[in-house]
Amino acid sequence: MTSSDLTRLSAEQIHEVLIRKEASAEEICREHLKRIQQQDPEVRAYLTVSAERALEQAKKVDLRIAEGGRLPDLAGVPVAVKDVILTRGVRTTCGSKMLEDYVPPYSATAVDRLEAEGAVILGKVNCDEFAMGSSTENSAYFPTHNPIDLTRVPGGSSGGSAAAVAAHLATAALGSDTGGSIRQPAAFCGVMGMMGTYGRVSRYGLVAFASSLDHIGPFGRTVRDVALLLKAIAGRDPADSTSADVPVPDYAATLEDGVQGFTVGVPKEYFEGLNPEIGDNIQKGIDRLEALGCKVTSVRLPHTEYAVACYYIICTAEASSNLARYDGVRYGFRSADFKGLREMYRKTRDAGFGAEVKRRIMLGTYVLSSGYYEAYYHKAQQVRTLIARDFIEAFDEVDAIVTPTAPHPAFGLGERIDDPLQMYLGDIYTVTASLAGIPGISVPCGRTRSAPHLPVGMQIFAKHFDEARLLQVARAFEKSGGLENGSDQ
Ligand code: GLN
Repeated sequence: MTSSDLTRLSAEQIHEVLIRKEASAEEICREHLKRIQQQDPEVRAYLTVSAERALEQAKKVDLRIAEGGRLPDLAGVPVAVKDVILTRGVRTTCGSKMLEDYVPPYSATAVDRLEAEGAVILGKVNCDEFAMGSSTENSAYFPTHNPIDLTRVPGGSSGGSAAAVAAHLATAALGSDTGGSIRQPAAFCGVMGMMGTYGRVSRYGLVAFASSLDHIGPFGRTVRDVALLLKAIAGRDPADSTSADVPVPDYAATLEDGVQGFTVGVPKEYFEGLNPEIGDNIQKGIDRLEALGCKVTSVRLPHTEYAVACYYIICTAEASSNLARYDGVRYGFRSADFKGLREMYRKTRDAGFGAEVKRRIMLGTYVLSSGYYEAYYHKAQQVRTLIARDFIEAFDEVDAIVTPTAPHPAFGLGERIDDPLQMYLGDIYTVTASLAGIPGISVPCGRTRSAPHLPVGMQIFAKHFDEARLLQVARAFEKSGGLENGSDQ
């Protein structure tokens, strides 16, 4: 096996390569570090590369192999971690100047669980500041470029995670999803990205943006890799009281069971105002699922049109409260030049936060303020219930729901950054599942017909805690060749 092949392997293949002793975990790790050095100056996925820590972990895996111990599924698998997820001893910036020098004293449960399974954390990847955005352009450091077309955004906010996996700068990655930040960048970069049911994965050590919506979830280049990562990080965690005490099935074990006899729902609300090239691909994806034995039927999700407004009220309200902790006293940055406490707060928050974060703190403070609370925040909570109910009713009839992940493919760097409202509207197909708390995955569904042939993502939803079925549908689609076989390119 040539060394460059090592960065093309899936987690599943790495496992086999290690068992057959065709390469060591250290070699696999070094090849990735080398590729990061060569390719990342163009892609700019990484904010911090933790080479030493990664090599140390890889050597531990090799030792385990030498001792003949059982090898966990993720042993030696190089993983990139979004920089809103804490990693003990490794700088975690949240893409913000506020935490430029912040080195956390503990790791997120998801990171601990991955490392316990032998995964090798290569470093921390770029994101929109505090995960607020859809393009990774809100990072206080630099934007990440889409590896498929370097002039375009990788999506966001987990753009670094998606780009790293797409550019083979990591085998898999962790991201966070509050309103689509795993699924949308996965779609833009042509990889898999999944958000489990709310509570499926512990949020302990995920820097809070909007606590009732935040999730940690996996990116991978294959459905099986996503299933393996999700299994490793899922499950009850006493450190997060909202993590669910629901048994975690062995997702990989049922992946190949097929979709014969499944009913798949298609909501027409998700096809209005859609870029026609995306619509075409998704229709072909749905036809493929039908050919694989699914019954396709239409479902109604009538409150979809209110989802963006509802999401941006609730997430900003929660963000305004969560971000109060960055006050120059407790964590991170403090302005050096101030007279008195009030000015210290003001100057710290003014210099430490970027424009989008400030916009959201102001909006969130407004919708929670007396006199407006009932009209906005309370109303949004009521609408959230209606959106969740739409899904619950639809899942009485169907096993899965299929939609586009985003209304458009990856757009140009700089193209939308001055129009926040337009940016928000692009979240229409992902925020619904976030509000309802159901799981969703984005799987590659061919490319756009016109040059530069950008990836299209098909989104699949399932009911609460039915990730196994969702992954089964995704796997059946992947196994059939997705749209790479039989599409018009
Ligand atoms: N794009 C959405 C937003 O800007 C979603 C972000 C996320 O999921 N973290 O809020």
